[in-house]
Amino acid sequence: MLVRSLVLCGWLSGSVVMGQAAPGDRPGVDAAAGAAVTRLQQAASQDELAWPRLAYLCDRIGGRPAGSPAFAEAVRWAVETLRADGHARVWREPVTVRRWERGTGRAVTTVPYERELSVLALGGSVPAAGVEGLVVVKAGVADLGPDVQGKIVLFAPEIPAGATAGERYGFFGRARSEGVSAAGRHGAIAVLVASTPERSLSTPHTGSMRYGAEGPEIPGAALAAEDASWMARLAASGVEVRVRLDLQSRELGTVETSNVLAEIPGTGNAGEIVVVGAHLDSWDVGQGAHDDGAGVIHVIEALRLLRGLPAPPRTIRAVLFANEEFGLDGGKAYAAAHGSEPHLAAVESDMGGFRPHHWGVAATEAQIAWLRPLAVSSGVPVQVGGGGADISPLEPHGVPRIGLVGDVDRYFDVHHTRADTLDKVDPDELRQGIAALASLAWELANAPAPPPS
Ligand SMILES: [Zn+2]
Repeated sequence: MLVRSLVLCGWLSGSVVMGQAAPGDRPGVDAAAGAAVTRLQQAASQDELAWPRLAYLCDRIGGRPAGSPAFAEAVRWAVETLRADGHARVWREPVTVRRWERGTGRAVTTVPYERELSVLALGGSVPAAGVEGLVVVKAGVADLGPDVQGKIVLFAPEIPAGATAGERYGFFGRARSEGVSAAGRHGAIAVLVASTPERSLSTPHTGSMRYGAEGPEIPGAALAAEDASWMARLAASGVEVRVRLDLQSRELGTVETSNVLAEIPGTGNAGEIVVVGAHLDSWDVGQGAHDDGAGVIHVIEALRLLRGLPAPPRTIRAVLFANEEFGLDGGKAYAAAHGSEPHLAAVESDMGGFRPHHWGVAATEAQIAWLRPLAVSSGVPVQVGGGGADISPLEPHGVPRIGLVGDVDRYFDVHHTRADTLDKVDPDELRQGIAALASLAWELANAPAPPPS
């Protein structure tokens, strides 16, 4: 989720716009369309393939960073699965990715006493070979100063009482993405970033980071909330804390891999496309069950169920993107190859497999007004702000971007951790996501009028 913090910021600043009309009340939408959506939702509620398919992706393939052997296997599995569903068009498109391998990581406090810490290298970090130093605690990048020279910075933001899961993630995401590079410029020797989930069971949350053009590249790791709290308490009491950090991460150059696409060709002449997407890659820790295995299953199963209906006027195109987590390369490659094609809308599922809560929409006011009645039959309300990371490169083309958002509280407990595993996914909630995505895709593909630009 490279740019997800931005997506979330948009979502958090938005207001809920609930659909007001019942499916049958919408002007210009006939009863047959409503019946089709009902059929889709019934079929989704009885979907017997969603769970075993997610189980295969998680249990047999597992964590799948783009460019890894596991990702290559996930691509092969996705192509085979979509072909088995009988779609007329299933294909791959090239994506070049940077391959970084986490390796093992270890951090221990050496003062005031030796204690093993729960850490995960941040994605893209340089390795660390016994980097040891005094810990200085900072709430954020803005607090960095000369006092961090030669020290290990622990970013441990003070979370306001009542902060939402998205806001909590925002604190972490900013320190994660910008903090390592900024601390390096101030002379720090390493960075630890406190994970900030609402509930932690000693689970550090990893994610990507980038070094700026200036300053030394120092190692960065995510730290479990419990360890960060302990160290911050000691520091606040004036107790000296020292840490030794070892990270075996390494760069493996670039790798040629691919997005996976499949589509139901439309019967109309306009050539308009409705994208339904998710990202096929995940971080290596855990199984990428919620991020974004569930989204992949939402897309694959929605397309399968939609194929059971008469082809709509517009083309429905499924895109399983490569490398959302570490550079957004698949989303960029898709926009470069297809951005000039007429996209009606792009829908992404990348907020977990929990019960759908709302559609987070990045679009103009007029486009949102157009979308609102189309979303009613999905049973999921529209909320202004959001979209999706992989479909964000379609923004310059004026494409409305719609993200399926589930239970954010639970999502951010497991996001980018070793705990993002199949057992956290509920089969019925997974089916509800399929029903929502299939319903909205159907409505969009049959919408009586395109969105205002
Ligand atoms: Zn994701």
